[in-house]
This record gives sequence, structure tokens and C-alpha cells, in this order.
Amino acid sequence: MTAMKWHADPELLSSYTSGTLDAIAGASVEQHLSHCAECRAAIAAHTDLAGLELAWAGVRDTIETPRFPAPIRLARRLGLPDSSAVLLAATASLRTAWMVSAFVALAFATLAAILTDGENLAPFLLVAPMIPVLGVAAAFSAPQDSLETLVVTAPYGRTRLILTRTLAVLATSLPVAVLLGLLVPGPTWVAAAWLGPALTLIPVLLALSSFVGPYPAAATVAVGWCGVVGVSVRGLPATWPVQAEQQVIYLGLAVLACAVLTVRAGRRSEIGALL
Ligand SMILES: [Zn+2]
Repeated sequence: MTAMKWHADPELLSSYTSGTLDAIAGASVEQHLSHCAECRAAIAAHTDLAGLELAWAGVRDTIETPRFPAPIRLARRLGLPDSSAVLLAATASLRTAWMVSAFVALAFATLAAILTDGENLAPFLLVAPMIPVLGVAAAFSAPQDSLETLVVTAPYGRTRLILTRTLAVLATSLPVAVLLGLLVPGPTWVAAAWLGPALTLIPVLLALSSFVGPYPAAATVAVGWCGVVGVSVRGLPATWPVQAEQQVIYLGLAVLACAVLTVRAGRRSEIGALL
């Protein structure tokens, strides 16, 4: 290692700390500073310590007290413990952006039903049950998700994690979806009837996930539901996918899916180990 001949002069260091250097000059000073203790010592005189302190306080604040998504902030006010809040905050489908896009999609579907005076229910019946289903799928399948890390490091069972997240997704997505459903013209029961397929598709999703993993399971459920709504568009009444006869089939499917989950969970220690 040879001694460096060049050092940044005070004027250059002052321009660097005030941010007035162009990108290339700034990058070379930075590169030099990373290797030269002498210039690092000299730059201290040019540093705005109060500003630095403020910046670090901001960084510490962000790391130590993360800002929770709106629904979780509300749940904390209602008494949700911080440990569960942190657990839920890592859930992709509880983030505000996910929820806003889901409800914008549902709002458009509702609008389609209103504009056609209840004749075209298909978009609403297609989107409404899929929101909680995709929300649940996203709640434990995002690749960047820290679920695995949490399972390894926190005193939470995998089943408890998945059930907590599933319930949180339902609690945040169902009320707004039901309210939007009330705006749909036609029989009032439609506003609640789509809950039948929604609540069926979730155990079906979980049961399928235990065989093929969450992504293929979510895709299969989505295609299946598109098929059911698609059939109804061909000459059947607009409410066909949620009429009583079909609800009986959904109930049967839900029972079957729960039975599959229970049997498969019985072979392992818990449902969570399947997913
Ligand atoms: Zn130097």
C-alpha cells in the first residue's frame, strides 16, 4: 500500500457536503473518502451535525417503529397486540396499495352492474368472491414474504400465522365488498350471496395449496370461478352463479375441502405444515 498523494481541498469537501458537486465529481470524492482516513477526518469540519443527527433519528424511527398499513393501525387502536401487528404488517394483501387496487376493481364491477341496471352482474360476481380468495393466497405466498423467517424465528406456529392472516384479510376485505354489493341494483340478497362462493373458495384454495402450492392453487380457483360465471353469461339469469341451487353445491365443496385439509393435516402435525 502506497501513500496517496492527492487529497481533497477544503473547498471541494465543502461543496461535497453541501451537495453542489456534479454527479461525477461527487462520486470521485466519495470513492476517495472511502479509502482516505485523512480526508474523512477533514470532512468532519464541513458536516452539518444537527442535520446528520436528525437524519439518523429519522432512520432509527423508521426501523424501530415501522409505519403500519391503515387497517393494521386501526386494529392496534382496537387492541391488537404489537407482536400480531408486526406479523400482519408483512402480509402483502393487507398493504394499502393491494387493498386500494382490489376495491377499485370491485368499484368498476359495481359500476358496470349499476349502469346496466342489474342486467350485467357478471363482473361483480366475478370480482367480489375473488378479492378475499386472492387476498388469502397473497397473504402467505409472496416470494419476498417473511413468513418463513417468522416461522423460524418467532414463537408462532405456521398454522396460527396462516389462520391469523386469513382472518385479517377477511376482516379487512369483506365489509367494504359487502357495502359495494349493496349498491348493485336488483335483489338485495345478491349483496350477501356472493359470500357463499367466496367462503367456499378459501378452503378450496387452502386444500389445493396443500397439494400444488399457493400459486397454482390460486390460479386453478380463479379459472374455475371464471368458468362458473362464464357459463351464466350464456343465457342464464344474471344471478345464476349465486342462486340457492348453486349455493348448496358450494357448501358441499367447502365441506369437502375442509375434510381434505383435516385428513391431510392429521397426517402431519398441523395444517400449516401442508402449505
Ligand atoms: Zn485524502
